[in-house]
Amino acid sequence: MTLRVGVIGTGMIGKDHIRRLTQVLNGVEITAVNDIDQSSAEDAAPMGATVFETAEQLIQSEQVEAVVICSWGGAHEEQLLACIKAGKPVFCEKPMVISAEAAIKVMNAEVAYGKRLVQVGFMRRFDADYRRLKKVIDEGSLGAPLMYHSVHRNGQVPEGLYTSDMPLNDTLVHDADISRWLLSDEISGVEVRVPRRSTQGGELRDPVIVLLHMDSGVIVDVEISVNISYGYDIRGEVSCERGIAALPNRPATIITDQHGIRQAIPEDWRERFIEAYDQEFREWISAAADGGAIGPSVWDGYVSTLTADAALRAVEKGTLETLDLIDKPALYQQH
Ligand code: NAP
Repeated sequence: MTLRVGVIGTGMIGKDHIRRLTQVLNGVEITAVNDIDQSSAEDAAPMGATVFETAEQLIQSEQVEAVVICSWGGAHEEQLLACIKAGKPVFCEKPMVISAEAAIKVMNAEVAYGKRLVQVGFMRRFDADYRRLKKVIDEGSLGAPLMYHSVHRNGQVPEGLYTSDMPLNDTLVHDADISRWLLSDEISGVEVRVPRRSTQGGELRDPVIVLLHMDSGVIVDVEISVNISYGYDIRGEVSCERGIAALPNRPATIITDQHGIRQAIPEDWRERFIEAYDQEFREWISAAADGGAIGPSVWDGYVSTLTADAALRAVEKGTLETLDLIDKPALYQQH
């Protein structure tokens, strides 16, 4: 059976997901696209796909069984609510929404529907290296985790596209989510330290160090540098009672020349996580074809939104800010 999918948002990641859904993966067909910029949607539309003027029309269309949302984060709330109302499985890029109120609205709608429909785009959970790291932690031979060191370095961000808060309200969500998942733990508080500012980043508050306080007492330190120039560099190391477990440096061709012996560094997230995105969609297609969702849930999207909010308060006040989570609905207890 072929899952008929509509894609909303045909910018950078929308185009990349269209490529993987049309050229890499099986069991899926893109039947519809939409972007606020109609010409962008027309350029990105695969042969035979209908270009809809509005996201709402795409979601309602009988040509569409499941939806992929790659629009700007501020548009996600309305689009997610429309998908849930239509009873259609939906994959939504991070950030799921941009406020705690919006997250709770989406959660209430899905809980009222009575079944998971939404999968949030935290692709690290589908990355083979992170999955192997989690397996080692879960097996318990190293004892309890005590600290997790997470490094999130990005070569550069397009000038003028983001506000100074971008490292905390856009980038941090990936590290927050992977920490919760890797450690099977919940975030209870957030602190932020701001070192010397990089001259590469213009107005951006960059770099930052974030401390995530977990329910168990584990502390996660996250370095976020979004203008590091040399490439996209993601690292993670868990310190446990009887040893450490770390992500490997990505295997890459070893180049030997007059500059020395070196390995290439991924240019950006598309290259580093290419297999993770493929796997994320492989599992989504299968779950959506069954009318549901798998992996990162609305609850996970909600917690990451609250973490970003707490980080923004923490950086302003210089204090440890707590997360005031609502009770977890039964729908998300297994996930
Ligand atoms: P982008 O290049 O700006 O693309 C977003 C597209 O959505 C643009 O064409 C934009 O049009 C369009 N759009 C905005 N509001 C819309 C609406 N209401 N309805 C339909 N289309 C709308 O951004 P991007 O880099 O692709 O990012 C898109 C989303 O993916 C963001 O939420 C981002 O955080 C996320 N993302 C996730 C990852 C990851 O690793 N998982 C990586 C990159 C991005 P205009 O340009 O005219 O506004």
